[in-house]
Amino acid sequence: MSKTQLAECPHCGSDEGYYTKTQVSGSVRYHGGFDRSERENGDMYEHLSHKSGKVAYCSACDKRLFKLY
Ligand SMILES: [Zn+2]
Repeated sequence: MSKTQLAECPHCGSDEGYYTKTQVSGSVRYHGGFDRSERENGDMYEHLSHKSGKVAYCSACDKRLFKLY
């Protein structure tokens, strides 16, 4: 039985759902013009390394539910 098949939180009984945390590290460049206009910022997040959350938490009680793979 897969633990991701939970129908409700085993801690509080809520069926609201779960969330995962994502850690982001790196620097963000924001390009602004001298006239205070916004420049092209399409690459704003390209230098960040995203570390996807590996653990799911209950949306209602914030308790740890299961690991994601
Ligand atoms: Zn819960």
